[in-house]
Amino acid sequence: MPEYQVIARKFRPQRFKDVVGQEAIVTTLKNALKNKRLAQAYLFCGSRGTGKTTLARIFAKALNCLSLTDEGEPCNKCSSCREITSGASLDVLEIDGASHRGIEDIRQINETVGYASASGQYKVYIIDEVHMLTKEAFNALLKTLEEPPPKVKFFFATTEPHKVLPTILSRCQRYNLNRIPAQQIAAKLRSIAESLNVEVEDEALRLIAQRAEGGLRDAESLFDQIIAFSDGKIGADAVGSILGLMPRNAYFELDRAGKDGNFIKVFEIAQRIFSEGKDLLHFIEGLIEHFRTILLVKLSGPNSILLALSAAEKEQYQAAANLYTQEQCLDLIDYLIESQNQIRFSACGRIALEAVLLHVVRSHFRLPIEQLVQRLSELEGEIRSPVQTTNLNTEAQRHRENTEIRKVEEKPVVKQEVKKVEEKPVIKQEVKPSLVTSISEDPTPTPADLGRKMQPAALPPPQPVTAKVVTPPQEAPNGKKTHDYDTLFHFAAIELEGKLQKK
Ligand SMILES: [Zn+2]
Repeated sequence: MPEYQVIARKFRPQRFKDVVGQEAIVTTLKNALKNKRLAQAYLFCGSRGTGKTTLARIFAKALNCLSLTDEGEPCNKCSSCREITSGASLDVLEIDGASHRGIEDIRQINETVGYASASGQYKVYIIDEVHMLTKEAFNALLKTLEEPPPKVKFFFATTEPHKVLPTILSRCQRYNLNRIPAQQIAAKLRSIAESLNVEVEDEALRLIAQRAEGGLRDAESLFDQIIAFSDGKIGADAVGSILGLMPRNAYFELDRAGKDGNFIKVFEIAQRIFSEGKDLLHFIEGLIEHFRTILLVKLSGPNSILLALSAAEKEQYQAAANLYTQEQCLDLIDYLIESQNQIRFSACGRIALEAVLLHVVRSHFRLPIEQLVQRLSELEGEIRSPVQTTNLNTEAQRHRENTEIRKVEEKPVVKQEVKKVEEKPVIKQEVKPSLVTSISEDPTPTPADLGRKMQPAALPPPQPVTAKVVTPPQEAPNGKKTHDYDTLFHFAAIELEGKLQKK
């Protein structure tokens, strides 16, 4: 019985064209080969399972292949290709940077690097997890890296390029590998399933691809595990339960309960989650993902490249998107992210979960902030117009009062004035006619005012003190009071918004 080989190894790409999701890098490497413009060192960076070591191996194979195809692919048939594939090649040396991280290990490389390769082709050192090398080891490598002997190449792979010394980075051609899109992972899994004669639902593959978060190897390992676990056709439900995924139906039920105002449904859902022993935090995470999907559907439609939805899900999410506004989704995502902590530290997780779900349902009955602010500014407008008339009225009243007071005081004042004028003529000079005109040119004339205006001209000029008392209140209430109202409303709006957000 042949030894079982895990999917990730069995289906490891052996040609550039089999590499998933790194098209740009593959093209660049092929062009470098074709034009014979090869750097002495290459650094492949990227998260786990994105194909760093795979690319390095294929590149090494292509460099040494005895009959490279027209497309720049290694033939995988010649002795060199076969040796490299089986890991028996003396010219392509793979070193694990995590376990060979010391200066001694690098010294060994430095000592052997001068010897020509066994086949007379390129000698390639592939150092995996190169960021694990010690600083001394890096420094020992510097000189060799700067000027390696002819036909010696270094390929480095790392998940943490920021830990690689800048002096090393500057001597390498650097390639950043992308996380592989879920659709491409699912397609790769589909082709694997076909060659293994395994029946599997599309939805099941999509779930696996999504869980792998851009790492093909993770997806392949998961798939391996699920094939071992299942008997017959692999369905989405089975995959969901193996992955510990929450049944999506609960989320869609919550959407509908919100729209119908069916609060009792919330308790039913919480009860179900709780009695099935699901992880509550996991459920909230799923709910965040759910609202993110709804938001994306609202923003860019169900066919957005940012989403990987099956046809059935597209329909479901399109319907769910009609139940929410964009602002609602954003608020709910914010709220749910915050509520994760509440649930984590809550002594009664179930009640906390119910509270969170009730909040979600109640969001359908809450006025959006934008509407509240609009309503506030409308109210402000309504309030402001009566305020201004009252201002004017009080103004008019004040004028009237002033005039009356003056009328009462008129005669004695005149007498005093006249007396003062007679006694000290200097006062006459002090009275400035410009001030008098500024008073009579007052911009807010009232009927009472008009009557008064005629009088001061006939009468001896009023004392500047009275003039000063009259003028400032005319401007101050108009300008200042409205400003007060503005600020008041502004604060009210901010306060209201804050309270709503806190809820
Ligand atoms: Zn070959």
